[in-house]
Amino acid sequence: MQLGNTVEWIARLAHAGTLLIVNALLAGLSSAMFLALYATRRNLRRVRGVLAWGLSYAAFAVGFGILVLPAFHIDFAFLALLGNLVIDIGAVLGLLAVNAYLELSRRRLWVLLPVAVLAFVEIGAVIAGGENFRLMVVLGNSLTALLVLATGAALWQCQDAPRRPVARMAAAFHFLWALMLLIRMAWWLVHPGANVGQESTSTFGLLSRLILTWVITPSFLWMLTRQLDAELIRQARHDPLTGVPNRRVIWEQGERIAAEADRRDTTMAVLMIDVDHFKAINDRWGHDGGDQVLIAIAATLDRHVRSDDLLARVGGEEFMVLIPHGDGPAVREIAERLRVAVESRPIAMPSGERLTCTVSIGCCLSPRGQARWRDVVIAADQALYAAKRHGRNRVELAAPPASDADPSASAARPC
Ligand code: GH3
Ligand code: MG
Ligand code: MG
Repeated sequence: MQLGNTVEWIARLAHAGTLLIVNALLAGLSSAMFLALYATRRNLRRVRGVLAWGLSYAAFAVGFGILVLPAFHIDFAFLALLGNLVIDIGAVLGLLAVNAYLELSRRRLWVLLPVAVLAFVEIGAVIAGGENFRLMVVLGNSLTALLVLATGAALWQCQDAPRRPVARMAAAFHFLWALMLLIRMAWWLVHPGANVGQESTSTFGLLSRLILTWVITPSFLWMLTRQLDAELIRQARHDPLTGVPNRRVIWEQGERIAAEADRRDTTMAVLMIDVDHFKAINDRWGHDGGDQVLIAIAATLDRHVRSDDLLARVGGEEFMVLIPHGDGPAVREIAERLRVAVESRPIAMPSGERLTCTVSIGCCLSPRGQARWRDVVIAADQALYAAKRHGRNRVELAAPPASDADPSASAARPC
């Protein structure tokens, strides 16, 4: 039969004992890598699943190691059952690791129930009737296939864009491995009279497990790297105190939006927001109290900006809002809404007292995108100082800066 021939042909490629040793070594190496990363990299300790991956590979290494013992004349009752069960524990830990790493619902782990039932049936059957190889392959492979399919499905669910392609590749190899297990079961079903001496599917199974480890260990490491890269990028672009984007982000976006507004003849605007008398807040409540106030004000502003607009923290108690589209009345209305939102939301201080803060806001528009980004920001800043001079807790609108096309106006501007 074609399937049987292929399995037997693969079996002749390598010796099962050698493959057991290579599998044990490779799993041991992968385990050492994940455990070393977990032990030495503080930022990885926060990533769920890394420790479970290390332990999962350790279980695989021990399981394969047990199966290879008879080659060194070490044998005991139920050795094959023990080795296979330890490998299954590795597969369970692998599933738990992926589930935790991708922060998926624990309800997905229902598959552990049929796995436990199959394991008990296998243990019971072996204790009652001895190590029947055919029975162990069929029960053990069903159990492993369930775990591998569940792990592959979990990886396939990865929603995070930077990690998704790698997660999908690892998932595809899990599905392939499950297919291999099913082929191995099928071989035993079409060879009911076969015995251990004739069996050639172990080599086939071990070879495919080797390929799976070769592929998924770098895939997992690659996913971790991409995740840490994404985290670094996020940190570089967000203010650590308030969590809103930082100056770098609004500057990049502002220059892009200003150029786009110029191309499309649309109006963009900038709001410069400064907390009033913040130094007095720091003096009264201490630096930590001041930080709490900044967090609360950033959250209020963030809730009240439109989804198209961008809020950023650009200085100690200074925020900026980039408005890609909006005419004069709309911009004034947005600024007024933000001012009122801060004023009408008292902040609960650690002592239990409630503190009412206010902000002053300077706005500047660039009609038909004619002004340079930098000039719009400078004009908004000047409008902010006018708001401070005129009594604070108010909005001032600057006159639009001179057109970019007017070289004399640009040259006169302080840059
Ligand atoms: P005005 O109404 O004119 O804006 O007065 P102000 O007191 O708000 O402005 P000033 O510039 O005199 O003081 C700002 C203070 O903000 C001074 C600085 O110590 C404090 N500050 C800057 N960054 C932080 C921060 O991250 N946390 C805290 N708690 N305070 C900060
Ligand atoms: Mg200030
Ligand atoms: Mg201030």
